[in-house]
Amino acid sequence: MAKPRIKGWCPGAWQPMASGDGLLVRVRPFQGRLSRSQILALCDAAEDFGSGLIELTSRANLQLRGVTESTWPALMACLAAQDLLDPDPATERRRNVLLAPDWQPDDATDAAARLLLARLGELPELPGKVGFAIDAGPAPVLGGASADFRIERAASGALLVRADGHAQGTPVHSVAAAVALVLRLAHWFVDSGGRVSGRMRRHRAPLPPWAPAGTAPAAARGPLPLGAHPLGRLYGLPFGRVTAQVLRAAIEPKQVTGVRVTPWRRLLVEADCLSVPAPAGLLSDNRDARLGMDACPGAPHCEQASVATLDLAERLSGRIDGSVHLSGCSKGCARQAPATLCLTGRGGRFDLIRDGRADATPAATGLTESEVFAYLENIDAPRL
Ligand code: SF4
Repeated sequence: MAKPRIKGWCPGAWQPMASGDGLLVRVRPFQGRLSRSQILALCDAAEDFGSGLIELTSRANLQLRGVTESTWPALMACLAAQDLLDPDPATERRRNVLLAPDWQPDDATDAAARLLLARLGELPELPGKVGFAIDAGPAPVLGGASADFRIERAASGALLVRADGHAQGTPVHSVAAAVALVLRLAHWFVDSGGRVSGRMRRHRAPLPPWAPAGTAPAAARGPLPLGAHPLGRLYGLPFGRVTAQVLRAAIEPKQVTGVRVTPWRRLLVEADCLSVPAPAGLLSDNRDARLGMDACPGAPHCEQASVATLDLAERLSGRIDGSVHLSGCSKGCARQAPATLCLTGRGGRFDLIRDGRADATPAATGLTESEVFAYLENIDAPRL
C-alpha cells in the first residue's frame, strides 16, 4: 500500500493526521455501528498498530492514536477486511454522515442513511468539514452536534430537512424526498458560493424558494443518558478516550451484539438485558465531570509531552466550575476553544492559563502538580 497522505485537518483512515504521538487514524463506522467482531478487531488493531488508545470524536467517529507510517498499511488492510473502510479517500470524505444512535432497523433514520450512502456519488465536491445528520426519530437528539444539513421530524411527525443556521426547515413526504432535497441543497450550497464560507451556518445566501424554511423541528431530546437503554446500555468515556483493553472488557458479556457510536463521549453497547455496572475505566454517572473535560494523551503516549496529563486531569475532575483543558504541550491537540482553566506542559512542569487556549499567555508558569493545586486554592478555583 502507498504511503499515507497526511493532512492537517479532518483526518480519516485514508488521510490520517500527524499528531505529536504519531498518526491519528479516524474510522467512520457504517450506520454508526460496529458488530461485536468488528469492535474486537478494532481493539486488537489499536494495540497492534497504534498506542492502544481509542478516542470517540464529537462527530461519532473512532480514532486510533499512535499509528506510524510503517504500521499504517497493515492497519488499513485490517480495516478493509473488517468492512470498516471506504473504497477510496474521496468516498470516505463524502461519507460525513452522523446518525441518531438509537435508530431501529428500517426506521426513517436507518433508511435515509442507507439511501444517502447509495447516492453519495451525486454530491458535489464539498468543503472538508461539511456533514449530514440523519436524526429522524420522534424528536431530534443531534442538535448540538456539528452538521450542515439535517433530516429531522417536525412536531406533527412529518419528516423535515433543515439547513444548519436556520431554526426551521422544509417538510417532505418521504425518506426518498428527504434525501433528494438534501442532495439538491448540497448542490445549491456550492452553486451559491458556500465553498467560501466553508460551513452552512456561515453561509449568508438566502435559501432557495424550493426549500422554504417554515416548519420547526420537534422539541429536542438531550443526549441519551448513561445507563440502561432499550437497545442495551450507555457507557461514558472519560475525556472521550478509552484503552482497547477497557473497551474489550465492556463488550465481553456474551449477550453483547455490537456497539453504536455517539457524538457525546458515550458508547451504546447493544445487548439484551445487560445489567452489569460500567467496567472499570468507563463512566456510568451522567454528572461525571470527565465527560466534559479535555485532556490530550500527554506523556508517555506523546513524545512532544514533557508531563503526564491524565492523572492530573483525574485529580482535577469535579473541582472546577467551567471547562478544563490538560495539554502535554502548547500545541493543544485536545481542544481548540479557550477553556476556563488550561494547563500545558513545558519542561516537565505546568503553565497555567485562565480563560484561554493552550497557546495563550499563562497566568502562572513552571508549576509542579502540587503548586497547581496551591494556586487554585489561593484564587478560589471553583469561581476561576
Ligand atoms: S498537545 Fe498533547 S498530543 Fe498534542 S503534541 Fe502536545 S503533548 Fe502531544
